[in-house]
Amino acid sequence: METVIEERRPAIEAAIKEAERDTIDAMAQHVQRLNEAYRRAGTRVLRETPDPAVLNRCPRCERIVRTPRARQCMWCFDDWHEAATSWTGL
Ligand SMILES: [Zn+2]
Repeated sequence: METVIEERRPAIEAAIKEAERDTIDAMAQHVQRLNEAYRRAGTRVLRETPDPAVLNRCPRCERIVRTPRARQCMWCFDDWHEAATSWTGL
């Protein structure tokens, strides 16, 4: 058993290194896709916001929500649909 493992050690080590490279490559691609998604989201928010100085922010956590008319925060999940109007007047 021990001999079989020792004989296969180079192949096992090569497979582990390849898996590590694949994992690192996959993580790098994931981070790149996330960064592109955040950039697109930021561009869309600025494009869809009539006045960039008045961004629709969550009343609870103050993060910028998904759309200018959003009534729910995807960050902290606060929901202000019941409020008569938001402070943005939208
Ligand atoms: Zn929030």
